[in-house]
Amino acid sequence: MSELIRWSAAELAERLTAGDVSSVEAVRAHVDRIAEVDPDVHAFLHVAGDAALARAEQIDRQRADGAELGPLAGVPIAIKDVLCTKDMPSTAASRILEGWIPPYDATPVARLRAAGLVPLGKTNMDEFAMGSSTEHSAYGPTRNPWDLTRIPGGSGGGSAAAVAAFEAPVALGSDTGGSIRQPAAVTGSVGVKPTYGGVSRFGAIALASSLDQVGPVSRAVLDAALIHDVIGGHDPLDATSIPDAWPSMAAAAREGAASGSLAGVRVGVVRQLNGDGFQAGVRQRFAEALERMAAAGAEVVEVEAPNFEHAISAYYLILPAEASSNLAKYDSVRFGLRVEQAGSTTEQMMARSREAGFGPEVKRRIILGTYALSAGYYDAYYGSAQQVRTLVQRDFDAAFEQVDVLVSPSTPTTAFPLGQKVDDPMAMYLNDVTTIPANLAGVPGMGLPIGLAPEDGLPVGLQIMAPARQDARLYRVGAVVEALLEAEWGGPLLAQAPQLGGTRSPLQFAATPGTAPAAGTGTEPDGGTR
Ligand code: GLN
Repeated sequence: MSELIRWSAAELAERLTAGDVSSVEAVRAHVDRIAEVDPDVHAFLHVAGDAALARAEQIDRQRADGAELGPLAGVPIAIKDVLCTKDMPSTAASRILEGWIPPYDATPVARLRAAGLVPLGKTNMDEFAMGSSTEHSAYGPTRNPWDLTRIPGGSGGGSAAAVAAFEAPVALGSDTGGSIRQPAAVTGSVGVKPTYGGVSRFGAIALASSLDQVGPVSRAVLDAALIHDVIGGHDPLDATSIPDAWPSMAAAAREGAASGSLAGVRVGVVRQLNGDGFQAGVRQRFAEALERMAAAGAEVVEVEAPNFEHAISAYYLILPAEASSNLAKYDSVRFGLRVEQAGSTTEQMMARSREAGFGPEVKRRIILGTYALSAGYYDAYYGSAQQVRTLVQRDFDAAFEQVDVLVSPSTPTTAFPLGQKVDDPMAMYLNDVTTIPANLAGVPGMGLPIGLAPEDGLPVGLQIMAPARQDARLYRVGAVVEALLEAEWGGPLLAQAPQLGGTRSPLQFAATPGTAPAAGTGTEPDGGTR
């Protein structure tokens, strides 16, 4: 394996600028890596190897000509298939959009291209971003690079797995209820859901418009920040885009890593997002991460968010309601799959096409959402869910009066086996118990690796949440935590993991080195809540 695929995007960018390596070499190494491992991992639905090499060549030429290039010019990136790309199919992993090539780029994609990043291809996901395991993709699941029998998380399992398997240094994801943070947690990568309105949704195939946000996936906090700086900021094409200027996320990450200090930072541990239903090793690593934060000067306190208990119930009414409305446009008249039969009416054609084009989870949510929005039930379901959403927002407001950031484990468990929850929607939904509140309130959240669970040697994530518009705070605090842990580990988790070609024993990633796997403490059976 070429060493350069193990570099972070920031390192690669530096070496590109210094002329140590060309963009063609960088892209080729990643395309080769994809050819080598993706038959097993299946992170990609579409690989644009030739187009990527052609673009890389162009950037190398521009650099040689002395053109002024952005700091990330020439760095390859993977893009979740929920984002429209005018030169690659954009299917949201659904049959109904099979082969569809949009006439335009999503704004985040257009901004990446303008900054000189090189799209490698489109990554796998749960169909229309509905799921927590990528098993609801119409094109087959992605596998977790740490253990190919396990899920990579979802819906953005493809982007997270691509980054974790060194198929791309960075990727784009989308997060409606956790689809960036949860896959990051179970693959040992970093993922950020920005403040609602912080990154344009223009050209992001909509799941639930009041919850969706596009964000970065990476192996390092700084890399996520660098991508966030490129894709973020006002976009007149998205009516919910925040018009104000944003501080540099990369500057915040660099400042955090350089200072190594959390002095003066008040960290609130959400009591409702940790507890009995969480896997023992997840709780252990989380507790150790809190100790590290306290040792770095943070004031760690417990906070209450009583309405978070109901967030998941509210989410599974609001999301299907919005999704049923958003997905009504797939009528097979103007684009997408069309199932014709001689003599059938337009309506029958639409029904047949939707029957053939949507998978079971998508149908389940369309039916649920249509029901929740129907005249007689609107107040009882959708209306009450919106009231709960307000209560969740108030819990955040109250908590952020006491603390600067909130923390929890990113997920209740480590990666579970493929097949375990795919036929059990409730068990699948419960994976997002920790991540959903941030979407309901529109606040930003980051997931980053804090070690491996002693009982199964799989990655555990820490979630950090900040008030709306305070995304830079996530990067600052995240970079401090990352720097502290990497100092103990001797480097990034993913760059050294033995499952991924590294040389360290998984147990050395324990914050308490040498902790032996406790016998019989397996993954909690249902990844339950509390
Ligand atoms: N797993 C959650 C769901 O199924 C979140 C999905 C997402 O964030 N796109 O809705």
